[in-house]
Amino acid sequence: MNKTYPVAANEPVLNYAPGSPERESLRNELAAQKNVCREIPAVVNGERVFGATATAVRAPHEHDRVLANLYHADQKTVQAAVDGALAAQREWSSWSLQERSAVFLKAADLLAGPWRARLNAATMLGQSKTAYQAEIDSACELIDFLRFNVQFAHEIAQMQPQNSAGVRNRSEYRPLEGFVYAVTPFNFTAIGGNLAIAPALMGNSVLWKPAATAALSNYMFMELLEAAGLPKGVINFVPGDAIEISNIALSHPELAGVHFTGSTAVFDTMWSEVGRNVARYRSYPRLVGETGGKDFVLAHPSADAEALAVGLLRGAFEYQGQKCSAASRAYIPASLWPVVKARLVAMVDTIKMGDVCDFSNFMGAVIDRRAFDRIRGYIYRAREDANADVLVGGKCEDRTGYFIEPTVIEVKDPRHALMQNEIFGPVLSVYVYQDAEWDEVLKLVDGTSPYALTGAVFATERAAILQAQQALRFAAGNFYINDKPTGAVVGQQPFGGARRSGTNDKAGSALNLLRWVSPRTVKETSA
Ligand code: GLU
Repeated sequence: MNKTYPVAANEPVLNYAPGSPERESLRNELAAQKNVCREIPAVVNGERVFGATATAVRAPHEHDRVLANLYHADQKTVQAAVDGALAAQREWSSWSLQERSAVFLKAADLLAGPWRARLNAATMLGQSKTAYQAEIDSACELIDFLRFNVQFAHEIAQMQPQNSAGVRNRSEYRPLEGFVYAVTPFNFTAIGGNLAIAPALMGNSVLWKPAATAALSNYMFMELLEAAGLPKGVINFVPGDAIEISNIALSHPELAGVHFTGSTAVFDTMWSEVGRNVARYRSYPRLVGETGGKDFVLAHPSADAEALAVGLLRGAFEYQGQKCSAASRAYIPASLWPVVKARLVAMVDTIKMGDVCDFSNFMGAVIDRRAFDRIRGYIYRAREDANADVLVGGKCEDRTGYFIEPTVIEVKDPRHALMQNEIFGPVLSVYVYQDAEWDEVLKLVDGTSPYALTGAVFATERAAILQAQQALRFAAGNFYINDKPTGAVVGQQPFGGARRSGTNDKAGSALNLLRWVSPRTVKETSA
């Protein structure tokens, strides 16, 4: 008899090679989904609610193509969703952990099997991800979250106190009392899903406000959870006006937690709102947020130039640089720069960008008009700036889709805005330092940006690695040695950062799930 808890394994990444069955089924899904316009309602207590206002969900790489109409939840609907969540939680939280786990393990199996191509296609079309970027997100990472969370929840259940003579003690991992408000980003379907399922697995009910630009894949994931047997009302899907929905959620006395990924500015606002309302709540809400980043790549003179160039390219430009973890400021020693620069420019020149349904493209479009305008603004300002030199890329083209070329900009001042601000697009800023300034550059990396999400150091000298590791101890929550700063794998690299990058409650680990329980300590003496 197996007396331990379920142990998860990472879902293998399929490679979609020409002629493979997975490529065939993905192609079929893409063709099918491209040509229908879906109607996406709110899901409140299991009921579909079509609000009076709707927005069009468009393919970023082909903005005339409307993939869906997204119906906004109005105030009444949001209120009903909160009521539904609170009612559903009474029953849901009385299910055993095994029973709740079974729903999510079933969802993982469905996603690994028949739903994989559907969800990948929705992520590709709606969020402009390539097949590979969709596969590592809406298939592998999301499956991993579903399975590993179950393992972590069982590990938590085993954390039990000591007994003593005549005294038996136990910890009961109750859910929070109230509902959890999940506000989720466009850039990872897996994050959208995980922000909703992690609290739900621990027995909570959830009000899930998805990003409109990820609604196609996120709604499909909601349907998948229903197909796996998630009871009505446990997760309520409420697309719509973020401010309006947040006003209701954050002022509700039963708000038990916020699970957020998005911008630092929005999280700041939510935190203030919670502060303003604090005396109204039944309990102090848990605030868990992953916010901005200005992630560094620091090279030591002993670095392997080829590994560095590849790390920069992939870290900065995969998914158009729209990962919170993307490499966006690099510090390269003068002795290495000529070789690295030549290699980087040569590789960037070969990058193919375009419609993600063409599998030979390495990059798609940025998510929407607002993102396009913001990123283009940075590039255009750099062109006019005597202290910045656009080395490669920089073309912005929005006739058919929101395309921005991968762009490398060299700056003369290590404190240039391009080294400090989060751009969230395919722009890599580089500062070249003199080899002898290594010690100073460590201080610069640590002190230039308010964020501390991810960072990477490239070096072959062990002493340099150890020195960087120590000097940059608080500069990143995820620290990579001789690798790009993106691509954390659930169960392998728990993800999150501190400072202005968030509360560092490590997605993909038991530490995150601990935020969604309110343990009861029970002491019983023998009578
Ligand atoms: N977990 C992702 C990575 O390691 C980034 C998550 C995000 O963009 O928020 O690349």
